[in-house]
Order: sequence, then structure tokens, then C-alpha cells
Amino acid sequence: MENLNKNFQEIVTHLKEIGFVYQGSSIYGGLANTWDYGPLGALITKNIKDLWIKEFIFKEENNVMIDSKILMNTKVWEASGHVKNFSDPLIENKVNGKRYRADHIIESIDSSLDPENMSNEEMYTWITENVPKWENSKANWNKIREFHLMFETNQGVVVDSKSKVYLRPETAQGIFVNFMNVQRTSRLKIPFGIGQIGKSFRNEVTPGNFIFRTREFEQMELEYFVKPGEDQKAYEYYINKSLEFSKLVGLKESSIRLREHGENELAHYSNGTSDVEFLFPFGWGELMGIANRTDFDLKSHAEHSREKLEYRDPMTNKVYVPFVIEPSMGLDRLTLAALVDSYKKEEIDNDSRIVLKLDKKIAPYKFAVLPLNKKIHSNEAKRVFRELIDKGISVSYDESGSIGKRYRRQDSIGTPFVLTIIDETATENKVTIRDRDSMKQITISLDEINNFI
Ligand code: ATP
Repeated sequence: MENLNKNFQEIVTHLKEIGFVYQGSSIYGGLANTWDYGPLGALITKNIKDLWIKEFIFKEENNVMIDSKILMNTKVWEASGHVKNFSDPLIENKVNGKRYRADHIIESIDSSLDPENMSNEEMYTWITENVPKWENSKANWNKIREFHLMFETNQGVVVDSKSKVYLRPETAQGIFVNFMNVQRTSRLKIPFGIGQIGKSFRNEVTPGNFIFRTREFEQMELEYFVKPGEDQKAYEYYINKSLEFSKLVGLKESSIRLREHGENELAHYSNGTSDVEFLFPFGWGELMGIANRTDFDLKSHAEHSREKLEYRDPMTNKVYVPFVIEPSMGLDRLTLAALVDSYKKEEIDNDSRIVLKLDKKIAPYKFAVLPLNKKIHSNEAKRVFRELIDKGISVSYDESGSIGKRYRRQDSIGTPFVLTIIDETATENKVTIRDRDSMKQITISLDEINNFI
């Protein structure tokens, strides 16, 4: 529950000031709800993506990766059901002119109600009867309309209905349409998985909570193809794997929970979905979803494309359409969760420090190299810095300001270890190493550090 007591605005301010995230297009007054990753944000997201590739692709014998395009044939989105179904119920308050998700309004007022179970007409009636005031103004509501979430654009020079394309709202469909390509060229036997990491776009009605809900975001998705009948086992396996992954990223067990969707909440393609949720300062929020997508996607694409999307078992020669288990995660949400969970303000000897106790695997820098005295130690420090870089480790170098201030800065960006270059570095190959969390410092030889790495 600790995260609920954290001041979210204070964390956001810190992340902006220190170089994790900036307001998008800030010199032009920004573009609403767009955020750019700064030097530290670019590194932490890269580290999380690398960890996902290691865990979900490399460690799983039969999993491979692809990189498909954001723009796809419009028929893909007809077959997937997005053209018809991908919308949210939008309601507008006539008095203040603002628009809201009707289901979110109901949930926020009466959490015992399940708006997924209500028709738009029922939601409208409930809201008009129960919400005479809203956000300090009178409420008088327009009828609910379905707001389509896919971004549209045009391809080529002539703008007509044939040139219309969508920005993908999920990366999964790029995998389904490549199912046969990948299976054939990689000679994969079921069960196997195809993963990808990439940008997705949704014209969300109510984006917000910093990088939690944005209109452009990055997903890490795996589609795991299994024989029908073996789907439940794989579904459970990937639920556990996703929970374990949250812990590998460094999230505390007490900050996460698993929530299974009720029957009425399930998407049209799914016969089982569970979300891993994280306790943000603004409440529980979905980090990732694990879904049993059945054979819906492959069958639907086969029907719309008139191509065969199926698998022939090499032992039995039986042909079937595989079932699909999908663990799907948002990179931006995981990053925010890791930053929130690790953020600490500590009082020490009449002073205070902000420290990000990030897991070593995802911290932007693993080490910082600081010459104790810039004039005397910087040549040696640069040598040590280059040696570490050559080992393939991300290292920060900082020689300006007092040593105390430089330690604080490394704490505040989450660097686990700081090496200070001292007189003994040149004479005895020794440095001091400072641990971020305990702030303890010892003198050791550089050879020991090399072994440690
Ligand atoms: P929500 O209910 O929060 O809108 P969703 O159930 O629609 O999410 P999915 O379609 O399951 O989300 O997408 C998989 C993952 O992609 C989510 O668990 C989340 O981490 C991420 N994601 C989805 N929409 C957004 C968004 N607008 N901004 C950032 N991440 C997102």
C-alpha cells in the first residue's frame, strides 16, 4: 500500500527534472498527453525491452521475434474486428463541454456496478439520474455515442476511400498475418511463439496519468500457438511467467495483483483473460493482460484473405488451426510502475535524498565513474570508464561539482554502484565502490570489480 501514499505529482516532477521524460513538443507549448523519453528514459525502456526479449524469446526454446509494420492493409482490421468493435462509449457534458468515458464515470461513482454489462442506453439513463453535478459544474448530458479508437490516415498522393489506412492499435495482428511465413521459414513445430515489440496507437477518449494512458505507446506482445486442448496449460504458464517478469523488472510483490476477467468483460475473441495490475499512487491499473484468444484470429484472417492459415502435425499428418495464448504488456506502463515502485525520499543526517532503488537489470546506468578530484584524477577516471564501456556495460561519467552532490545525483537516477577514482587508482589499481541503497563505501581493486561484472 506504500505507493498509495506517494505523491504522484512529486514523482512526475522529479522524472521530468532529472531527464527521464519531457513534455512532447514542449517549446511549442506541448501536444496534449504526449511525452518524450529523455536520455535516462531511453535507456531504462531499452533495458526493459532487452529483458523481455531475453525472458520471452531467448529463454523459450521455440519462440522467435518479428518486426512488422505499423501500417497494414485495411482488410487486416476488418478481419480482426477492430473496424467494427474497437470503440469506447463517449458521453459529453453539455454544460462544461467536456467528454468522458461513460463506463469510467459509472465505475468511479459506484464500483459495485459493471458497465461492461450495460447497454449505452442503460448507461445514459443511469448517468442522467445519478450525476446531476460533475466536476464542480452542473451536468446535462448528450446521448452516448461510440467513439472509434483507431487513428486514420491516408497513404499516397490521392486522398480517397482506397487510400485510407489505420495506425495499428496493437502489434498482435502483424504476427497473425505472418503466421505462415514465420512457421515455414523458421521450420517451427507447434507449440511455438512469435513475439514483437513496437508502437501502437489508440485515439483514447481520456488519456492521462502521465505515461500510463497515452495515444501513442509501445507494446511487447507474444502470440503463442498451441494445439487446441493444450491452451489452458499454456495460458496458466504465461500468467505465471508474466507475474515472474513483473518481479524481474523489480516490482514488489505487494504492489502487484492478478485479476481475472468476468465472463461479461471478455473481449469477443477471448475465452479467458487475466490482467496483472499494479498499485499506482492513483490506484490499481492494468500493466499487462494474458488472453486465451482461441483460434479466432487465424480463422478470421483465413476467411477474409482466403488463404490457408493452419498447421499440419508432422507426426500424425492431422491439419488444424492452432489456439493462441497472448501475454501482452505495455512498455510505458511497466516503466512507470518500476519508477514509482522504486522512488524513495529518505532523511539522512539532517539532509534528505531522492533515490530510485531500481533493479540493477533495468537501471539506466549500472555504474558511475567519478574522479574524486577533477584536476588530479580525471585521466585515470577516463581510462576506467573506457574499460567498463568496452565490457558492454552502460556507465555514467561525471566530474563536475562536489563529490557529495555527484553521489546524490547518481542516487536520484538509480545508478546501483558508484566508483570513485582516488590516488590509489594509479598506484595500486584501487577504487572505492559505493552502494546506492546502503550508501556504504569500501575500497577494492579494479580486478575484483572485473570479476564481479
Ligand atoms: P485499458 O483497459 O487500460 O485501456 P486494454 O485492456 O485496452 O487497456 P490491451 O488491449 O490489453 O489494453 O493492451 C495490452 C497492454 O497495452 C495493456 O496491458 C497496457 O499495458 C498497454 N496499453 C494499452 N493501451 C494503452 C495506452 N493507451 N497507453 C499506454 N499503454 C497502453
